Amino acid sequence: MTQSDWTNFLIAEVHNYGGFFGGNTVTFDAAPLAAPDDLRTLVIDTPALDNIRDRHTILANMVLALQMDGDRVDHARLLAAPTHEELRDALGPARLEGSLEAPLVLSGRCPSCERWVLGELLRPAGCGLCSAAE
Ligand SMILES: [Zn+2]
Repeated sequence: MTQSDWTNFLIAEVHNYGGFFGGNTVTFDAAPLAAPDDLRTLVIDTPALDNIRDRHTILANMVLALQMDGDRVDHARLLAAPTHEELRDALGPARLEGSLEAPLVLSGRCPSCERWVLGELLRPAGCGLCSAAE
């Protein structure tokens, strides 16, 4: 598994939660951040949610990193949300592993794209999502 297998998608619209035949899914329209016109309808099964505690917390305008196999989403990772409340609600309580040697920034607001993003993506000039596009 390499970093290049992941694509960042912006959710345009969430269609429904639940799915067919009792499957636990969320269905939404999304386009790659790098290709906003390439809108497609995607379905994610609950087991594919890497850092999202509940599929019902997935909302429009969130940014997800998706690992795809054809049309199927194998892994989905939440990277950013429009508000702090939406981001924290989707991620759930912070999982802190071991002892920390430095202050850990869990999340912050990017002044450039005005999203709340995971702390690991924050840079002085912006975040890994919008800085990468420059
Ligand atoms: Zn940004």
